[in-house]
Amino acid sequence: MAEQYRHIHVLSDNVVNKIAAGEVVERPASALKELIENALDAGATQVDVDIVSGGRTLIRVSDNGTGMDRNDALLSIERHATSKIRDVNDIEGIDTLGFRGEALAAVSAVSRFRLRTRRHSDLAGTEISVSGGKIQDVRETGCPPGTAVEVRNLFFNVPARRKFLRSEQTELFHIRQVFVVCALAHLNVGIKLTIDGRKIYSLPGKSLLEDRLRDMFPSTSSPGLKSVNYTLNNIAVSGYISFPDNTRADRAEQYFFVNRRPARAALLSRAVRDGYHSMIARDRHPIIFLFIRLNSSLVDVNIHPTKKEVKFRNPGEVHDILAKAIRDALGTAEAKKIAHRGLSRFPSAGPQSGYIPGSLKGMESSSHVRKFSYPRQPAVPDVQPERAASQEEKKASEGVEKKVAAGETPSASPWAWYRILGQVGGLYIVIETEDGLVLMDPHAAHERVLYEQLLAEVINGEIKSQQLLIAETVDMTLKDAMVVRQYLDLLKKMGFGIAEFGGDTFVIDAFPACLGQVSCRNLLEDITVALEESGDKTGTGHLLEMTIARAACRSAVKAGKQLTPEEIEQLVDQLARAEMPYTCPHGRPTLIHTSFQELNKRFGRK
Ligand code: ADP
Ligand code: MG
Repeated sequence: MAEQYRHIHVLSDNVVNKIAAGEVVERPASALKELIENALDAGATQVDVDIVSGGRTLIRVSDNGTGMDRNDALLSIERHATSKIRDVNDIEGIDTLGFRGEALAAVSAVSRFRLRTRRHSDLAGTEISVSGGKIQDVRETGCPPGTAVEVRNLFFNVPARRKFLRSEQTELFHIRQVFVVCALAHLNVGIKLTIDGRKIYSLPGKSLLEDRLRDMFPSTSSPGLKSVNYTLNNIAVSGYISFPDNTRADRAEQYFFVNRRPARAALLSRAVRDGYHSMIARDRHPIIFLFIRLNSSLVDVNIHPTKKEVKFRNPGEVHDILAKAIRDALGTAEAKKIAHRGLSRFPSAGPQSGYIPGSLKGMESSSHVRKFSYPRQPAVPDVQPERAASQEEKKASEGVEKKVAAGETPSASPWAWYRILGQVGGLYIVIETEDGLVLMDPHAAHERVLYEQLLAEVINGEIKSQQLLIAETVDMTLKDAMVVRQYLDLLKKMGFGIAEFGGDTFVIDAFPACLGQVSCRNLLEDITVALEESGDKTGTGHLLEMTIARAACRSAVKAGKQLTPEEIEQLVDQLARAEMPYTCPHGRPTLIHTSFQELNKRFGRK
């Protein structure tokens, strides 16, 4: 079948502009980025950002920069019109953020756009209105010196793009990200963010990095952060990073700047991971504000607006120096912190940290003889294995040997009889059962226990809350606060006594009793991530389960925590009663079972 022949035709400017616009303006946040960068390029010392409805309704950026005269204002919205380069040689030495002359043309092609601008020396300013790329009106106007750009109804004339805008919350998240990055990279400039009429940040100019961090990240205030200052081979790394106990479940609070420009690269994330190596769990991410400075010939700064990764001439070297800088900072800091607290929170897996509960010590070495023969039949609840133990052994194992009473055992119980032998490797609990040997991961086990407990309470509507003696206020990031606000009811259903306190702060005066001692802030942050991950896709049932699983994980005993014999005993007992004792809510095993049969086989016994 022959394709219908189509003649070539040149696209109209209008269509070309819309296509080009798509490359520059992906979403409200990318338009915002262009507008702020223009303000900074114009030498502004104050930039005010106003957002309405996640940027769909309005994005406004006002600055006190140079402003433009009428001619330049008209040129500024033409494609490839720029004041920043003249020819291709200028690109090498570029020191402005933009230079392609595309942004205003693109933004004004896909929105209802208004530009008001006045040079400081002029008496009157110029106002230009554009709708979908067509100039509607140009007039003289009275306005303050500088430039204000208003972008309304973004993508109103490009339905295909409009459809791809995500929820207001998601767009706001990206907007905040753009704002934060600009605020961190331009400490000299005062910058303000207002969302739906609410003042979110108002950051004075001539700030120190510390000031900005305190204003924008109150929840990560400096006690939790460590300064970094490291130079090697003319590559300098400076900024702040979080201590290993101050982490998040996602990478949302990791900011890198290369030669003052915001930068992203897999290499940078990898270097962070390597810098922290064994200090944090694999699914946790530290908070990072790092500035890397190096000779500009060693990095590709000619970054296309959509090209997000920076390119280094010597990536390996940058990786190594960054990782070293982090290790260096944490090395001294962590050593001091631990000395200060007098305890190690990162026990090595060496034998010295292997914990044998006091009352179990005797049993460790007792070479007792068991009379009943292996292998035994699969556990039946009412079978008590016949045992002929010596007097001492009986004494030693008092309180740790258990027969699970008939009737109270759920059918899923992994054993009918068990005896706890101790904790090995500072982690795993070793249990003898009637037909073999069981290794239990206490964290995973505790996670399972808490999960089922909390889920049952929520489902039966008999949630037990524990009242806090002193209500705790939790400052959240703008993004997290938005999620919490959206799911306030769900959190209350889970047993949280939580209320808005104004701004992005919440007061918590109660939380689910079974979660025990846990940091409100960490718990809430984790739950926020769970809610966000599952929020879009799933029904509330699944949402609840995910959230509870996350809460259980946060509150469960940490790997490496030394448990008392009583705690071990309680945990083993609770796990045995769980409905699904064999995995944690995320599907990792809680128990590894080796039967005597298997041992016999491996020892070559018949
Ligand atoms: P680019 O920034 O790549 O030059 P833009 O389309 O973003 O392209 O802007 C075009 C031109 O308009 C800029 O080169 C600059 O001269 C002028 N301009 C844009 N925004 C401002 C502003 N806020 N203040 C002063 N001049 C501006
Ligand atoms: Mg620009």
